[in-house]
Amino acid sequence: MKAEIIAVGTEILLGQIVNTNAQFLSRECAVLGVDMYFQTVVGDNEQRLLESFKLAASRADVVICTGGLGPTQDDLTKDVLAAFVGRELIVHEPSMKTITDLFQSRGIHMVESNRRQAMMIEGSDPLHNETGLAVGIAFTYEGTHFILLPGPPKEMKPMFTKYAVPWLRARMTDEIPLYSKMLKFAGIGESNLEHQLLDLIQSQTDPTIAPYAKESEVTIRLTTRAQTASEGERKLQATELEIRTRLGDHLYAEQDVPIETIVLQLLGEKSQTLAVAESCTGGLLSDLITAVPGSSQSFLGGIICYSNALKHKLLGVPMEVLEGEGSPGAVSSETATLLAEQLITVTGSDFGLSVTGVAGPSPSEGKPVGLVYIGFAQKSAVTRVITLQLSGNRESIKHRAAKSALYQLWK
Ligand code: ATP
Ligand code: MG
Repeated sequence: MKAEIIAVGTEILLGQIVNTNAQFLSRECAVLGVDMYFQTVVGDNEQRLLESFKLAASRADVVICTGGLGPTQDDLTKDVLAAFVGRELIVHEPSMKTITDLFQSRGIHMVESNRRQAMMIEGSDPLHNETGLAVGIAFTYEGTHFILLPGPPKEMKPMFTKYAVPWLRARMTDEIPLYSKMLKFAGIGESNLEHQLLDLIQSQTDPTIAPYAKESEVTIRLTTRAQTASEGERKLQATELEIRTRLGDHLYAEQDVPIETIVLQLLGEKSQTLAVAESCTGGLLSDLITAVPGSSQSFLGGIICYSNALKHKLLGVPMEVLEGEGSPGAVSSETATLLAEQLITVTGSDFGLSVTGVAGPSPSEGKPVGLVYIGFAQKSAVTRVITLQLSGNRESIKHRAAKSALYQLWK
């Protein structure tokens, strides 16, 4: 089934609101196994709306339209579509009753335009609106299914899920739904990961392999068509195994969760504790960790030792290491080691994690932007230091440094 979304509203064209309806509907259609071919945004203009309907009807099996079902003069969707398909607008009595009752109970005089929200196109099925007044509609015209929903997401989303989906499902008996699985990777960049899977990505049509990066983490989505979850799993198995063989060291989850969630889970299971010392990440690492509910069970806290003075005062890194002619400097393996080890001494944690580096935009201590040292100290093992040369702007270097530090704990 080829689908198309038409989002109606001049506000979207002017950039005053973001078309989140299309995002929601596209995602839901993917889950249903309905292929999305086009997304259109059209203003509240009769002629252009009519053109959009004509074009959509000529190329799509399903047209989902949002917006313009309200009571005002610029809400034209139903009128234009009714004219296009050559049908009358008729009253949906239950909706009309809801509207009349509401106005009566509030003691407000009801004007003619309010009645518009209760209108439906002749021969269509009503889609009940539990959070608003405008009734949605669904009908089929010359082989194309039209679904009309109001613009406000809080009305549109439940109407789609509860009423439009069953309506659509009943008309797509031959369609096999999509089955997807997410694999999450850390400690590897998107391009490196893609490079290592390039032959698979290019040759594979079922399942499809789609990598994408978001907030310094790489996700691979494997997708196939399957009637049940177990059939889906079975069809993904061989590809997943091949990916594991190549990139297993970096695969930390089989669902879309950030690495900090997994790390805290692991620490919690072993009743282990963590403390962090942050220089270039400036608290971001602690922020990521504390964003996870229940982190207090394992996370003792962090020290933002941004200046050399604090690295020295709070965590005892000797000034000779931090500054002066020929010293290793604040951005060095030595400093990362001392910070991480001192954390354990000072806080009594099982693990000490430190991050020191050059976030940019200018080099520091004669060291290049993106150079980051991560120190990982453990109570009962030798301290490890990881040197990274990260790319990107200040924000992404900070983010990548924090995520790489978390990756050390998972590894
Ligand atoms: P109303 O009864 O509120 O007028 P409507 O069905 O006529 O509803 P619109 O007038 O087009 O819908 O939009 C109403 C509001 O819904 C917008 O101001 C906006 O907040 C939200 N909205 C509309 N379209 C979208 C969209 N595509 N994505 C996200 N929000 C939207
Ligand atoms: Mg409106």
